[in-house]
Amino acid sequence: MRTLIRGGTVVNATGPVVADVLITDETIGAVTAPGLITVADEEIDATGKYVLPGGIDAHTHMEMPFGGTFSSDTFATGTTAAAWGGTTTIIDFAVQKKGTSLLATMDAWHEKADGHCAIDYGFHMIISDVNDQSLKEMQSCIDQGVNSFKMFMAYLGVFYATDGEILRAMQRATETGALIMMHAENGIAIDELVAQALAAGHTDPVQHGLTRPPELEGEATSRAIQLARVTGAPLYIVHLSARHALEAVAEARDTGQNVFAETCPQYLYLSLEDLAKPGFEGAKYVASPPLCPQDHQPDLWRGLRTNDLSVVSTDHCPFCFKDQKELGKSDFSKIPNGMPGVEHRMDLLHQGVVAGEISLARWVEIASTTPARMFGLYPRKGVIAPGADADVVVYDPNATQTISAETHHMNVDYSAYEGMRITGKVDTVFSRGSKVIADGAFHGREGHGTFLSRELSQYLL
Ligand SMILES: [Zn+2]
Repeated sequence: MRTLIRGGTVVNATGPVVADVLITDETIGAVTAPGLITVADEEIDATGKYVLPGGIDAHTHMEMPFGGTFSSDTFATGTTAAAWGGTTTIIDFAVQKKGTSLLATMDAWHEKADGHCAIDYGFHMIISDVNDQSLKEMQSCIDQGVNSFKMFMAYLGVFYATDGEILRAMQRATETGALIMMHAENGIAIDELVAQALAAGHTDPVQHGLTRPPELEGEATSRAIQLARVTGAPLYIVHLSARHALEAVAEARDTGQNVFAETCPQYLYLSLEDLAKPGFEGAKYVASPPLCPQDHQPDLWRGLRTNDLSVVSTDHCPFCFKDQKELGKSDFSKIPNGMPGVEHRMDLLHQGVVAGEISLARWVEIASTTPARMFGLYPRKGVIAPGADADVVVYDPNATQTISAETHHMNVDYSAYEGMRITGKVDTVFSRGSKVIADGAFHGREGHGTFLSRELSQYLL
């Protein structure tokens, strides 16, 4: 099966060029000057549109257990929504529970995901129980294509790891070539502030933000960086939200340390003011780290331009407003932490191009190419080039749309961006050569997506 995408502007991380793209079965067969190829089974006219490598969302949580409930997207619904938004690969987190092994965790997550995803997927592993067996099993995980391990400096009693435990896992990462991903917030100090707020009778959602001040994200980020320096481990800071943390990352990178960071669309577009919306409305915006005051946003955009922030992922972890977020109606600390977003990352970042915050090429780089390299998927993913998987998005930069829970495809009853006008829209999406989205309809299927066994991070020598 040969599909020819004609006359579009192919946008790679190296920049835009007008070219034809031939899809041959599951891969890209050729990228040529316009008009060179004349024979194909199907043709798509992409004149005036962008032809992008499919988006890679390196941070999602489908069906994730949290606070006695589960994030509301399954692997089936979440990957379908991702495809609607031009994302053709997710990397989700397998979550080790205390007292279980990493390998049993990996099996459990394969059982949840295998045969259900509409697009390709990989896993990271969350280590919540650092012990001799877990440390040993890191190598087995790597052998099975899962070579990035997330740890938490917050959530005492659930995911929290002590500095000593982090140090041990980092030493193991140095030995094996694995990447440590860090949720960097000083959870011990935060728990005190939360207890004090509740004791004073402050129960509203905005307290979630006020009890997690940006300084405590900055402190934990700095501490993680120093632990990485001592152990020689590469470090990837997940969902960076605060200027304080960005400064620590920039300083480490300036000294040549292998420190990388991602941010998320919610930190670029939403703020503490959303958490402070009247009544219980703010619960829709409860995620950790929390949304910061608005004046952090220009720093995050600058970080994306200077590459101190290399990736934008969503941390997609949806909980319905009704029944799920409502668990915290009388106590903000019981609101499940997480926001939906997997469907809108490409569109929201395109607004950065429209607004002149980032270039067209940088949009593709932070949303597809760098995540592919960071997590060992390049050049199979993250580029429009011969031999790459035909994960291709035809994007109409002039179409407009309005984000709404009425029209989105994520399995959640609200949108954090309700009513936001967007310039640009996904037109057609291919996943390994199969048409998934076209003519405003879903043509994919549950189970088309395959598990991606990943190589080590390609940013490390
Ligand atoms: Zn997360």
